[in-house]
Amino acid sequence: MPITTADVNRLRQAQSEAVRLAQGELQKLWFELSDMPPARFRDALMELIPALVRRYQEVGGTAAAQWYEIVRAYYFNDTFDTHIYYGDKTLTDAQQAADTDLRRLIRWKAGVLWDNGDTPANPDELFNFLNNVVDSRIRDTARYTVRGNARRDPRKPRYARVSNAGCCAFCALMSSRGYVYKSEDTASFSGSSSFHRNPKTGEETCRCEIIPQFRSGDNRIEGYSPERLERRYREAYDMLNDGTLPDDWAEDMKAKGISTRRATDPSTITYVMRRLHPDAYGDGIKP
Ligand SMILES: [Zn+2]
Repeated sequence: MPITTADVNRLRQAQSEAVRLAQGELQKLWFELSDMPPARFRDALMELIPALVRRYQEVGGTAAAQWYEIVRAYYFNDTFDTHIYYGDKTLTDAQQAADTDLRRLIRWKAGVLWDNGDTPANPDELFNFLNNVVDSRIRDTARYTVRGNARRDPRKPRYARVSNAGCCAFCALMSSRGYVYKSEDTASFSGSSSFHRNPKTGEETCRCEIIPQFRSGDNRIEGYSPERLERRYREAYDMLNDGTLPDDWAEDMKAKGISTRRATDPSTITYVMRRLHPDAYGDGIKP
């Protein structure tokens, strides 16, 4: 039985559910604590948010690990012990550094709780930031979990970063590598790459997942065509290299501080991809 769109959707939905629950708790906590004086409020968030995130990383990570076992069982009968990963480590081993990093981020971002010169305090900005952190850390845990298990699996499946229809040009670029082995894997998918939004509507556009493939050419995932993504990447790459970049694009790039020469720079290549296919991406350029 091949891995299909329905499997990918199940993986995405389990993560969306974990994010929904975590954000619900965040909202409750915010409501209960936000009347505190700013310094105490900040300290409380630094104490409580890492624990909240960890709880739901475990929820989402467990779902992702079980999902891996289920799709693996389409192909093999032997047992394989899955783990939850965050980055290159198991979630347990990664936790301390991740918590420290998160506390530092919260301390830095909590500056918006105070008036600063002419800029009034803006707690909503911190609240939105924390919602994004919750979203990206949980979803990243699922991605790392599938990747980590695929890498450890003695059956040596390939795996791909599978983007959804309407994702941004950057995610499309990252997904164009198709199914690779661990040794070929250079694509990063963490941090800012995980909660891309449409710059105009603010709507979340990107829901990349890491999906294994246990037999070459077997996966049946609608809307994910690494060949088409690769072709579009190639088209933009060639345009940058053979000097056919239109003058007005080049001028616009210069005005925006984007290099017109480095075809390997993601901001350069995605600019040209968006220009070539304005309707193909969630962050497409609409004239
Ligand atoms: Zn994206």
